[in-house]
Amino acid sequence: MRVAPEARRIVGAPKGPPGDERSRLLRRLRGRKFDRIRYRAQDALVALVPKRGPPRGIRAAIGRSDRRWYPLKDGTHLVKWPYPGGAPPRGARIERGRWDHEHCAACNRHIVPGRTFWQTARGSCFWLCPYCHRRLRTLRHP
Ligand SMILES: [Zn+2]
Ligand SMILES: [Zn+2]
Repeated sequence: MRVAPEARRIVGAPKGPPGDERSRLLRRLRGRKFDRIRYRAQDALVALVPKRGPPRGIRAAIGRSDRRWYPLKDGTHLVKWPYPGGAPPRGARIERGRWDHEHCAACNRHIVPGRTFWQTARGSCFWLCPYCHRRLRTLRHP
């Protein structure tokens, strides 16, 4: 299965060449407090999406949550998003532990189960990989 480029997790992340974008975001996060957290996989919901697009119920269930698209050979897609609990919407199934990585907001590197990442302690939520968090600290204390 080919994996589509995924939607960025953070809305409003600055645009530009990757290296540029990374340092701009890190400068913007200078002075913010971060908590170190161990990443654990979450359950996911998965639905098959026909060529004409997701049915209303699926679209409503995804809402504003993060989602990933997986194109299939016949032009349809699978869409996957974190399982928020409760009854899954019609046409979706629960896949245990299959929301199994996140992305660093600065460099897009994968954050995987068992590894740690850094999350802003309050305010708008950003996740950084250990490399970018270390870089941020050098920005803070030049
Ligand atoms: Zn990073
Ligand atoms: Zn990914």
